[in-house]
Amino acid sequence: MIPSVLPTYNRAPLTFVKGEGSWLIEEDGRRFLDLAAGIAVNALGHAHPALVAALTEQAGQLWHTSNLYHIPQQQRLADKLVENTFADTAFFTNSGTEACELAVKMARKYWHEKGQHERVDIIAFEGSFHGRSSAGIAAAGSEKMTNGFGPLLPGFTHLPFGDHEAVAAAISDTTAAILLEPVQGEGGIRPLPDACLKGLRDLCDEHGILLILDEVQCGMGRTGKLFAHEWAGVDPDIMMVAKGIGGGFPLGAVLATEAAAVGMTAGTHGSTYGGNPLACAVGCAVMDHVADAEFLSEVNRKAGLLRQKLEGLVAAHPDVFDSVRGSGLMLGLKCRAVNGDVVAAGYDALIATVPAADNVVRLLPALTITDDEIAEAVARLETAASRLER
Ligand SMILES: *Cc1c(COP(=O)(O)O)cnc(C)c1O
Repeated sequence: MIPSVLPTYNRAPLTFVKGEGSWLIEEDGRRFLDLAAGIAVNALGHAHPALVAALTEQAGQLWHTSNLYHIPQQQRLADKLVENTFADTAFFTNSGTEACELAVKMARKYWHEKGQHERVDIIAFEGSFHGRSSAGIAAAGSEKMTNGFGPLLPGFTHLPFGDHEAVAAAISDTTAAILLEPVQGEGGIRPLPDACLKGLRDLCDEHGILLILDEVQCGMGRTGKLFAHEWAGVDPDIMMVAKGIGGGFPLGAVLATEAAAVGMTAGTHGSTYGGNPLACAVGCAVMDHVADAEFLSEVNRKAGLLRQKLEGLVAAHPDVFDSVRGSGLMLGLKCRAVNGDVVAAGYDALIATVPAADNVVRLLPALTITDDEIAEAVARLETAASRLER
């Protein structure tokens, strides 16, 4: 008999009942160090006082009105995002996949407005992940996600990640945009070198096409900049944001330049919940912390510390681990053992991590993780690796 919850997930046999900063408490009382952070969502850890205050204060005032009316919290969050990024404008969603939907629609509408109705194609990359909607799975294109769900939304081409020549050759007069994650998350923590991102920006400029970045996982301070593309010194035209922006409250956004958003006039897009007062009150509190230069410099310092310790871990356990990769506090342990076994051994050692493609274990701690917790995390990974070796 089918379970009452549709069985689309392979869940670990764990039930967490409370969270405190970088810690998760299981119903049996065990305390897990959380290097999953709800898949890069709990950017400020669990139960951060500022987020609890923002949420509960708003909860006592007004939860939801819909976008029939002005929403001051949404306006404030949009202003903060515009002030701190390349963007001139923001649309709020409830998830990353909804941000993907709008990013694709916006790129197509841009060319429609320009009278180039044939420019609908989007160049995307192998190993990418853009969510589970019909546009999201078509954009990522992997067999695993698309099998059985056809007919797929047409207009997507998939090229090897980082293959500049292939992109240059694939651009045609039907190309609307290039879409990529600056650091692939689900694909196995694969950062695109800064020079490659610059090269893609140059190609876009040369051909007048749009650059869409999916920073749903790598954005919101995760790499040590507010957004990962800042490391390369180039700006996108459209950007998808979600995960960390709500700190655990469902919230996403599409940021865009005024030029890219030209077709998105009243009535062209919408969402009942998107940008509601509760979500945006929390989003503002997250932004107030993460967009702070001192906070980001701490992320960078702690990222260096974690990475250095992980290099030691890899060197000490060559049968389990191959290498460390990633950017900031978005790190991957490329494994020689089976990554799922490493994650399971981690659970036994009371540490939560996340598997990814390419036999990688992802480490996505709260950006507020402390030095002591970093040391403890690596000690627990040592325990897990030693047990796997036996
Ligand atoms: C998680 C993720 C998404 C999808 O976000 P949801 O909130 O799960 O819909 C899209 N793109 C990237 C890069 C992601 O990591």
